[in-house]
Amino acid sequence: MLTAIPKPAPPAARELAKVDTVTELIGNTPLVEIRSVARGLSPGVRVLAKLEGFNPGGSVKDRAALRMIREAVRTGQLRPGQTIIESTSGNTGIAIAMIGAALGYPVRLVLPSNVSEERKGIIRFFGGDIVYSNPMEGSDGAIRLCREIVGEEPGIYFKPDQYFNPMNSQAHYETTGPEIHRQTGGSVTHFVAGIGTGGTVMGTGRFLKERDPRIRVIAAEPDAALHGLEGLKHMASSIVPGIYHEEDLDLKIPVSTEDAYEMVYRLSQEEGLLVGQSSGAALDAALQIARQLTHGTVVTVFPDFGSRYMTTNLWTTWKEKLDVGNLDFSI
Ligand code: PMP
Repeated sequence: MLTAIPKPAPPAARELAKVDTVTELIGNTPLVEIRSVARGLSPGVRVLAKLEGFNPGGSVKDRAALRMIREAVRTGQLRPGQTIIESTSGNTGIAIAMIGAALGYPVRLVLPSNVSEERKGIIRFFGGDIVYSNPMEGSDGAIRLCREIVGEEPGIYFKPDQYFNPMNSQAHYETTGPEIHRQTGGSVTHFVAGIGTGGTVMGTGRFLKERDPRIRVIAAEPDAALHGLEGLKHMASSIVPGIYHEEDLDLKIPVSTEDAYEMVYRLSQEEGLLVGQSSGAALDAALQIARQLTHGTVVTVFPDFGSRYMTTNLWTTWKEKLDVGNLDFSI
């Protein structure tokens, strides 16, 4: 679909100020309207997405990692020379490694040895140590091994423990929520986000509901225990995170891996937005809500960009279809 060339650039989404460290660039991410993929909604309904891939570590988890580390420094749980340790192969690991590099704290991450080369590379570039756990034991094996390592020498480590650390959702209460409120001029009526630890949906939801209790807070979750939606949790089959309070949600919407992948495909082709699969899941749920409305502003979160998943099923799922568009002049 050809769209009219937009007007001159609106005021910059970020202040173009000089900063002292990369950590100051965390947050204040842009909010973009989804136009083509959200076609056919009632004229009074808008769907907007917050692009968390603009964080310097490339994901929404920069916010939580920074808040947890800051609080630990403030309270003396993390002292100079101590090592930050966590068992996460996902975006939280990358965020911790980046912030550790920027603030001068050593970082050690415990990961199943079958984690992708991309993940290992990013963490190593930030100077993070990697301890490999048995790949057959998945993330549970990494969690166990991490506990053992800390148990041997507890004094030298700080473990953020993102599933139980209230600073995880607090980061979103203090930053993501206020940003969304400001960026929509207070017009947000529905907030939709995927649940991994639940930090994003809980903290942002709490802030928005305090502003206006009529705002609905909705979680998107994978429709099955075994799914390809990296970053998201199927709560009924998982250990429920300590920071997750289901009673604070107005609704949970199950999303299939296929529907999430379809949204990623359409966002890239129609909007020029290449995002990760959990963003696709969030948009699918946001559109389910938006289709039921005659008026409203539905805001969702795109946790990271799709470039992070080029060695995963996301790419292999679409590769055949997308490769057809290539012109091959080789002889
Ligand atoms: N999407 C991706 C890609 C993630 O890495 C995460 C974090 N695990 C989430 C969504 C969910 O974020 P939260 O932990 O704040 O619920």
